[in-house]
Amino acid sequence: MKLLFVGPPGAGKGTQAARVAASLGIPHISTGDMFRHHVSNGTELGLKVDSIMKSGEYVPDEVTVAMLRERIAEPDAQTGFILDGFPRTTGQVAALDGLIGTDGLDAVIVLDVDEDALVERLLARGRADDTEETIRNRFEVYREQTAPLLDVYDRRGVVGHVDGMGDVEEVTGRILTALSDGDATTPPEVGS
Ligand code: AMP
Repeated sequence: MKLLFVGPPGAGKGTQAARVAASLGIPHISTGDMFRHHVSNGTELGLKVDSIMKSGEYVPDEVTVAMLRERIAEPDAQTGFILDGFPRTTGQVAALDGLIGTDGLDAVIVLDVDEDALVERLLARGRADDTEETIRNRFEVYREQTAPLLDVYDRRGVVGHVDGMGDVEEVTGRILTALSDGDATTPPEVGS
């Protein structure tokens, strides 16, 4: 089961991806988490991406794709995974197609969240790269670059929209239901 979770910053997709991944017994692969891990460990890659992340811009595709390619080649990712934060550009969609095929993703789950609520969530989260300016810039980047890639997956018929508002447990339930209903996907073996 290969899934992609999509949503604007603060939509709770990281939390939901982790919960659904645990439920399905597959790894949650977040490129943002991976980059933050490199930054906090002071690796060569971390030093390279630190200022880019602080500005809210995207890390160059070749850097991101190389990191992602290595991650999905690891043993735990062979039965499936939930991608969170990748692909984020049409260039990255093409790169992912090259890695797992154009029919590689079973479903693309889009979390729909009210935008005012999003701003509140982000400011409350208080992460190091969450300055007000960075948040605004991330929204702008999301609108300009990420939304168009949904068109690509829409045409492939794998996109499922889920209401992202409400309790964490509630939203997880909606996602698992959408997946097992087969709205936009082959039914998974939930809870096994
Ligand atoms: P996130 O936690 O997913 O919001 O990612 C935090 C930051 O990491 C982003 O603002 C980007 O600078 C970088 N990043 C994460 N994923 C990607 C990606 N797929 N492509 C480019 N940059 C990324």
